[in-house]
Amino acid sequence: MRVHLVNPSHVSFGIAVITPRWLYVLAAATPRTWGDPVLVDETLEVLDPASVEPGDVVGIGIHTGNALRGYEVGRAVRERGAWVVYGGIHATLYPEEAHELGGAHAVVKGDGDLAWAGVVEDCVKGTPRRIYDAGQVPAGYFLPARWDLLPRQRYMWASVQTVRGCPKHCSFCSVWRTDGQEPRQRGVDAIVAEVVELRRMGFRFIALADDNFYPVTLEDLAMAARRLDKTRLHELEALRAERFELMDRLSKLPSDMVFFTQITMEAAEDQGFLEAMARARIRGALVGVEAVTPEGLKDVYKGFNASGEDLVERLQAFRQHGIHVLGSFIFGLPSDRAETFEATAALADRADVTFAQFVMLTPFPGTLDFTEWEKSMASDPRRIDGIPLTRHWLIPQALRPKVYVPHPVMSADEIRDRTQNTWDRFYSLRNIWERSRCVKSLKARLAFLLISKIYRQMYANTGIATDSARVGRSARWARLMIKPCQRLFTASPMPDLQAPAANRAPAGADLVQLTRSASPAN
Ligand code: SF4
Repeated sequence: MRVHLVNPSHVSFGIAVITPRWLYVLAAATPRTWGDPVLVDETLEVLDPASVEPGDVVGIGIHTGNALRGYEVGRAVRERGAWVVYGGIHATLYPEEAHELGGAHAVVKGDGDLAWAGVVEDCVKGTPRRIYDAGQVPAGYFLPARWDLLPRQRYMWASVQTVRGCPKHCSFCSVWRTDGQEPRQRGVDAIVAEVVELRRMGFRFIALADDNFYPVTLEDLAMAARRLDKTRLHELEALRAERFELMDRLSKLPSDMVFFTQITMEAAEDQGFLEAMARARIRGALVGVEAVTPEGLKDVYKGFNASGEDLVERLQAFRQHGIHVLGSFIFGLPSDRAETFEATAALADRADVTFAQFVMLTPFPGTLDFTEWEKSMASDPRRIDGIPLTRHWLIPQALRPKVYVPHPVMSADEIRDRTQNTWDRFYSLRNIWERSRCVKSLKARLAFLLISKIYRQMYANTGIATDSARVGRSARWARLMIKPCQRLFTASPMPDLQAPAANRAPAGADLVQLTRSASPAN
């Protein structure tokens, strides 16, 4: 009996940008009795069902975008006589769907870190449960990934998770509902050990694949300090202290290492945090800007973000600390108008954003937006291939429409055209070349240009375009360009690298003082 873990995808590039971390974490959760699991990442190449034998256990992780391909894989391997188990966000939200359409024997809802070993044992005994409610695993139980199983040459960036969960509640995002609003922060030693292992293998670019790298804001601390009971304040201070300790340890790793993370904009107000990020060589951050107006931010329950000139200043604060921003903007918010697109593009330029993504407001399952939209669609008679639009992920890929939240004054086509134009403007050769001044040598500027173009091809054309020829061309182009790009990210292995020792007085030692000074109660 063998265990197979499959990351489904309907498009394969041969090389992928970031390692699908969950595959390697579940590999670590697989009992060693059954040998090393077979890992199949279909963003590299498709699964060959003939590699699966009767009695094998196949774990398939799905999100909404790859659920249909996941179901195809599940049915194919069930026909081969395998036990089929689903997990991931989509299976957590729609466990019955995996049973009805994906040939599931079992579905794991929530985090698989602790549950997976038991699921495999149950399958081997022939008695898998229909549903496993695994819930949210405490941070102390997060498993380090089995990087020893990774095909090194096929990924550009590795990924390490440092915290799960996000305290916010943005309407278009499912993270706070699926991963929870209480940050679950991993211990520093465990994170550093994984990073060191990856650098030993020759990865110098690492994504800190977190929901929100800045889970405790100065405002949170100030609010907790106003309470009579200081328990919460001390909890938050401890979380914050751990962040500083982590960044201090990262700063002692080889100087060629580069980290990238995802963070809320509030970090820009926190000088000490930005400085610690810079020392840790966290050189890039995806910042969810979403909207450039207060009305737009209100539309998505993201009032904690800044707008207008304040927004420009906050985004620039990252750059002033050497942290490049990948700004994420959403179009199609109810308050958006034709002029919003131009205003957004102009702001992205003024704010020194190094990369940007412009997405259309989409009702993703598990979000507040989806719940609203699903209700509004209750009487919509439209079906494609017999499937209602509210289950659009089940429509065959070739027929599947892009589904967006309806807008009060603009049509989806208008929003799409304007969004596409904004991508075209931001990623014009001239603008990319201008932005490439952020790196010094000609070689680095050319690399910047290449990466910008690949990013645009992979995300704009394949993500927004409805024309399948355009999507196909983009995928082919990205496949061609990704190979030379991969070489830019490779470093010589450092097999003897040791983890830096913990600092007894980390650079954030003054942070309690900082916290106290942020508190009006002090
Ligand atoms: S969009 Fe970002 S800030 Fe908002 S809930 Fe999701 S992870 Fe948190």
